[in-house]
Amino acid sequence: MEAHYSNWIEISRSAYRKNLEFFKNRVMPGTDISVVIKANAYGHGMLEIASLADECGIRIFCVHSINEALALRKQGFTQRIVVLGPTIKCFAEAAVKNDIEVVCYNIENLELYEELAKKANKIFNIHLKIETGTNRQGISGSALLAFLDVLKKCEHVKLRAAYSHFANIEDTTDHSYARMQIERFKNEVALIKNAGFSGFDLHFASSAAATIFTKTHFNMIRLGIAQYGLWPSKETYLSYITEFGHGSEHILSPVLSWKTVIGQIKKINAGDYVGYGCSHQMTRESTIAILPIGYSDGYDRHLSNQGYVLIRGKRAPVIGRIAMNLTTVDVTDIPEAEVEDEVVLIGSQGDQIIRAEDIASLEGTINYEVVARLPEHITRIIVD
Ligand SMILES: *Cc1c(COP(=O)(O)O)cnc(C)c1O
Repeated sequence: MEAHYSNWIEISRSAYRKNLEFFKNRVMPGTDISVVIKANAYGHGMLEIASLADECGIRIFCVHSINEALALRKQGFTQRIVVLGPTIKCFAEAAVKNDIEVVCYNIENLELYEELAKKANKIFNIHLKIETGTNRQGISGSALLAFLDVLKKCEHVKLRAAYSHFANIEDTTDHSYARMQIERFKNEVALIKNAGFSGFDLHFASSAAATIFTKTHFNMIRLGIAQYGLWPSKETYLSYITEFGHGSEHILSPVLSWKTVIGQIKKINAGDYVGYGCSHQMTRESTIAILPIGYSDGYDRHLSNQGYVLIRGKRAPVIGRIAMNLTTVDVTDIPEAEVEDEVVLIGSQGDQIIRAEDIASLEGTINYEVVARLPEHITRIIVD
């Protein structure tokens, strides 16, 4: 196939559908699936993923910021949109005007929402974040009671949901901390009910809990990384296959592939150096291929002299330092390689595969970061 971009990301519709199908079958009746598409849908492309999720019948999007929510509204998405990160006061009016749901735990913001919703003659929906042990956003105990006192008087702000977030599910196969968080959550929810509130939803589970603990599903799951076909961690994977046995590891299919092409091929001599800092010296007469991809495109410089790519179904090692927009690989053992051949950076080719997790372990990070920081300037193409 003739290349049309020097590097691009392919998003597989069939893999995405398959992953959502798994969760549709897994959630309890009456539980909604919201998809978390913050961070440009974990690098997959927010608008591209929103349109695939829409095709799959998803009715709720979760994002981090009001700007992401407004971008979705601008594209015409009519789904419910929940902003999970803090919304600063200057964006309150835009949130009310565009019917965005926001996380709220701060009385000052609550009073502002009441005033704006009253002026607009609307009901504005908030999600109250409960602190249960992650110690990020949220309130509990006396701060929660003080908040509820004000909320009780608000006629235009509706408590749409109370929710919390697990601190320690991904990093362990011991889930006692998670169980403690659920207990705290139930106690705080009891406080809310005792204060006279009813008819609100509860949600807690992100991908790991959604996959391994159906009892954390409540009214909605917030499905992030698993919708993209990536496991939240090795521990989550182990917890799952320990419970469900072999064969169950294939429930998730990676949605994203990242590709580039060969820009130039040339022969160099034994003893020649490659790239900045002369960090790699050839030990034999070699053929090298130059790729139009570098660290400014998200191909991490830590992969210098460490990573590998796929060309003609074979592994080609990265040699020398990754530059801003160029990377060199050794194709001496792939003599059939030609200029403009497709090169896989993440994904499969022939019977070889490079997973986001493989790159993450070379870089000393997690699969979340590998995909989430893929830059916005790369073209995303939806393929079947
Ligand atoms: C990012 C995020 C999620 C999604 O987490 P995954 O592990 O990717 O499923 C869910 N809830 C909150 C509050 C988040 O910030």
